[in-house]
Amino acid sequence: MCAVLAYGANEDVAEDARIAALARADGAMVNIVDNLRDSQFITPAIVDRDPVTVAIGTEGAAPVLARAIKRDLEARLPATLGRLARIGKSFRHVVEALPMGRARRDFWTEFYFKTGARDLEQGGEGGVLAGLHTLFGRHLTAQQQPGAVAFVGAGPGDPDLLTLKARKLLDEADVIVHDRLVPAPILELARREAMLIAMGKEGFGPSATQDDINDTLVAHAKEGAQVVRLKAGDASVFGRLDEEIAAIDAAGIDWQVVPGITAASAAAASLGQSLTRRGRNSDLRLLTGHDVEGLAEHDWRTLARPGAVAGIYMAKRGARFLQGRLLMHGADPATPVSVVENASRPDQRIVPARLATLAEDIKAANLPGPAILLYGLAPRRAAEPALPAVPFQPSKREHA
Ligand code: SAH
Repeated sequence: MCAVLAYGANEDVAEDARIAALARADGAMVNIVDNLRDSQFITPAIVDRDPVTVAIGTEGAAPVLARAIKRDLEARLPATLGRLARIGKSFRHVVEALPMGRARRDFWTEFYFKTGARDLEQGGEGGVLAGLHTLFGRHLTAQQQPGAVAFVGAGPGDPDLLTLKARKLLDEADVIVHDRLVPAPILELARREAMLIAMGKEGFGPSATQDDINDTLVAHAKEGAQVVRLKAGDASVFGRLDEEIAAIDAAGIDWQVVPGITAASAAAASLGQSLTRRGRNSDLRLLTGHDVEGLAEHDWRTLARPGAVAGIYMAKRGARFLQGRLLMHGADPATPVSVVENASRPDQRIVPARLATLAEDIKAANLPGPAILLYGLAPRRAAEPALPAVPFQPSKREHA
C-alpha cells in the first residue's frame, strides 16, 4: 500500500481500529466516520464552484447543520459562478489600470453581480470577455464618483434596529466617522477595508472639538471617499447635526441625512409603553439634562402637570437638579420616572424610580452605560425590584 488518506467506515469499532492501524503503519492519515477523537483529519461539506470553493465543517458537532448550509449555498450560488470567476481572473491584470480601491471594487461588483451572468447566458465565454472589455472601457473613462457624506442614525445599539438604508451605506462606506456611543456589533458591519474613526463629543471626559470633526469629514469627502458620519440614535436628536451639515455644505460637498431610532423610542419599547396617549399626554418633550452652559433649564411648569411625558437625555448627573426643579413647580412626587440604561442592548437595565427619590435611585443603581429617563412613564409590567415606596407628601399644587 502507499495510501495518503484512509477512511474507516465499517460502523464497527474493532474493524475500524484494525484499518486505522494498518493505514497508520503505512504512513497514511486516518478518518474514522463519526469519530472525531480517532480521526486525524476531517472532510467538510463542499460547495464546489471551482475556483470558488466553500467548505462547511462542524467538527462532527452537527452534520445536519452542515448539510442544511450546503443545500442553502448550492441553491444560492449560480452554477456559472466558477466559470465567471475563472474568466474574471484572466482579466485582473487589465483592471490594474484602474485606481486601486473603490474604482476596482465597483468594476468587479458590476461584473459579478450585474453584467457577467447575463453575458455568459447570452454569449458564452466569448460574450463574457467582450462584456468585460466594454465594462472596462466605461469604468476607465467614467468620472470618479465625487465624495459625499451621509449622516446616519445608528439607532440605540441593537444592530437589528439599523434601517436598511443605514446597512446599505455602511456596506458601501470608505470612511466611517462614528460616535463613541456606537457599539462594536454595529461597527463590525462595516466593510473590511473601510477606515473607522472614533470621533464624538462626550458629555464629560476627553472629546474631539467640533472643528476637528468637521475637518475630518470634509478632508475625506474631498478625496472622493463615501463618508458615513454614524451617530447614536437619530442624528437629529442632540447630535450636533446642524454644525456638521453647515461645514459640509460650506465645502460644497453632497450630503444626506438618514434617520435612526432615537433612545427615547427604544426605551419606551422596553417599558412596553407608548410615548403619547389619548387622554394622558398629547405632547411629548425630548430634553437634555445638560447643555453647553451646564444644567439645562426647561419649561418646568408645563412638565410638572399631571400626565406630562418627556424623554430626558444625558440626565444622570443632572438628576438631582431636575428633580428639585420639577418638585418646586408642583410635580407629584409619586410621578414615575423610568431610567433605561443601554436601551435595546444585551445589557439593558430598567430602573423604575419615582420623582421623589430619583437622584438617590439613580445613584444606588450605579449606571455606567448611556441612560435615558422616561419621565411620566412606568414599566407596563411591574419589574423587580418593586417600585420604591414613596412617603406620603402632598403635592405643592394642593397647597396653592
Ligand atoms: N442622538 C442620540 C442621542 C445622543 S445624546 C439619540 O437619538 O438617541 C447621548 C444620550 O443619548 C445619552 O447620554 C443617553 O441619554 C442617550 N442614549 C443614547 N443611546 C442610548 C441607549 N442605548 N440607552 C439609553 N440611553 C441612550
